[in-house]
Amino acid sequence: MQSKLNLILNDFVALFFPNTCIGCRGSLPNGVQHICPTCQYDLPKTNNYKEDVPHIRQKLVGSIPFNHMLAYLHFQKKGIVQHVLHALKYNHKEDVGVLLGRWYGHDLLLGGFQNEFDMIVPVPLHVSKQRKRGYNQSEAFANGLSEVLKMEVCNGITRVTASETQTRKSRVERQENVSTVFKAENSLLLKDKRVLLVDDVITTGATLLACGNVLQEVGIKALSFGVIAATN
Ligand SMILES: [Zn+2]
Repeated sequence: MQSKLNLILNDFVALFFPNTCIGCRGSLPNGVQHICPTCQYDLPKTNNYKEDVPHIRQKLVGSIPFNHMLAYLHFQKKGIVQHVLHALKYNHKEDVGVLLGRWYGHDLLLGGFQNEFDMIVPVPLHVSKQRKRGYNQSEAFANGLSEVLKMEVCNGITRVTASETQTRKSRVERQENVSTVFKAENSLLLKDKRVLLVDDVITTGATLLACGNVLQEVGIKALSFGVIAATN
């Protein structure tokens, strides 16, 4: 009798606090976390680990030498990806980053990337922002990738200044703005390593470039980029 009451109570609670998919707001099947199977199937994958998507690579071509520019998803405004990234950054859904990292890690394994990198370095948040959010969303993604690809995550870069919002600046101003924002934290550990630098989104590429420059200044062996989503 007690357990039946509990079930009814659970249903009652679920009615008002449903365990919903962050993609479509539909209810999640038992045992499924955050993203329902339909939304998972509908994720707009770039698949650029196996076939080049020129406009993504183009964001960084001609800047600094790099090997791979890997983006898991195409960013779409008002689509599943925007909902997912919003939840990851602003709704305390750190687990979503880990989940996406695991899923992408499996794709990369299939693509033959298991021995391509020595370590994963997340783009850092400023310490004050990370304290406020409670975690770094890029590190969450890195942790999911790390589990599957079996390579360590190294917080090799720190963010020195909390840069102001950049949406109203020109591309050149943005690049100048981020070029003095980051510094290497553990040069000896990074030296001669093949690094996969990861972030949540690539838009102009200015942040990844600034971090990439810092990594190359300390003498890493090879640089690649990995992001959850790339804008068009
Ligand atoms: Zn869904």
